[in-house]
Amino acid sequence: MAKVLCVLYDDPIDGYPTSYARDDVPKIETYAGGQTAPTPKAIDFTPGELLGSVSGELGLRSYLESQGHTLVVTSDKDGEGSVFDRELVDADVVISQPFWPAYLTAERIAKAKNLKLVVTAGIGSDHTDLDAAVAHGLTVAEVTFSNSISVAEHVVMMILSQVRNYLPSYQTVLDGGWNIADCVSRSYDLEGMHVGTVAAGRIGLAVLRRLAPFDVKLHYTDRHRLPEAVEQELDLTWHESTQDMVPHCDVVTINAPLHPETEGLFGDKLLATMKRGTYLINTARGKIADRDAIVRALESGQLAGYAGDVWFPQPAPADHPWRTMPHHGMTPHISGTSLSAQARYAAGTREILESYFEGRPIRDEYLIVEKGALAGVGAHSYSVKK
Ligand code: NDP
Repeated sequence: MAKVLCVLYDDPIDGYPTSYARDDVPKIETYAGGQTAPTPKAIDFTPGELLGSVSGELGLRSYLESQGHTLVVTSDKDGEGSVFDRELVDADVVISQPFWPAYLTAERIAKAKNLKLVVTAGIGSDHTDLDAAVAHGLTVAEVTFSNSISVAEHVVMMILSQVRNYLPSYQTVLDGGWNIADCVSRSYDLEGMHVGTVAAGRIGLAVLRRLAPFDVKLHYTDRHRLPEAVEQELDLTWHESTQDMVPHCDVVTINAPLHPETEGLFGDKLLATMKRGTYLINTARGKIADRDAIVRALESGQLAGYAGDVWFPQPAPADHPWRTMPHHGMTPHISGTSLSAQARYAAGTREILESYFEGRPIRDEYLIVEKGALAGVGAHSYSVKK
């Protein structure tokens, strides 16, 4: 019987909810491109409930315990002596979410002698040292597509809120003010702007599709080019590299995974090649941007705004400079963990566990690492250190 160690974010400060703003969430059965939403044999939760915090347990407890497995859930994940460190020693399976990542470093993996399966409840497995996972023969899987549209919606919201100066204008209302000139002196229309995405995978392409009706000029760069029909349908301009693309853009959105090719990509050098007053939206991973270079670019006006929900480390310390830099629209890491998304990735986590415990193959589209190598979707989108 297995020990499953699940790291989730804290419950709401006022306690686990007893009621919700809405009574249901739409049921999504198929994603764009035809991939089916998760298909576990059963679920033991009501979609639309809070599942991603400690008391929600991703809806897994009754299933796991009915099979004789042990489930340990904690939010205490950082530093020596954390519950995560203590429980990891004999855990067979680790589950965590990128919003509150259990950083599975090479050192931690070396100590976890029983560890076989690492599940990301969500998308983006960079909090697991993939080189170490490859070396130790672990399986790493994530719930591909489960929250891609959730993030794409967040990106569109952040682009509009930055360009139109929404957040400072809202603050004016909260403060009892009415100075319209203050609000509009940084407010523009998105229409006609050049918007580029770094990566046009599930999220990047969904962002392009959602922005097309705003009559913007769309650009993208990706390691693999999109089908010609899609380029024509959306009137996309493809660029060989991020470096080639960004000087043409008024808005840049980052939608690539964090891996050796993308770490630190948006530093002083690249930012200096962008048009003065570009907006940069990063919901991919904090480390794709150089923390201090972003602050400098906002202070100098090279960037007109920066918004996103991804930081390093997470949770971000109280004195993280992105909390106080000018013209930012940061949120905690929430875009991929709406209640709608939680229902999908909790079901996907259950599907992965059912496959694993029943000795059936995990869907190829969920696999990042298997049998000592990048596998499935991981082999397509990630790289390991050379
Ligand atoms: P996909 O795997 O569908 O897409 C990733 C795309 O990035 C692929 O098309 C890949 O190219 C491309 N890519 C990889 N490296 C580069 C590079 N160096 N330059 C340009 N393109 C590159 O993933 P998703 O779209 O679903 O998710 C993308 C990322 O977004 C995740 O890895 C995660 O980090 C982040 N994310 C954030 C969330 C949040 O809550 N904020 C939630 C979900 C995801 P190709 O495959 O063609 O080689």
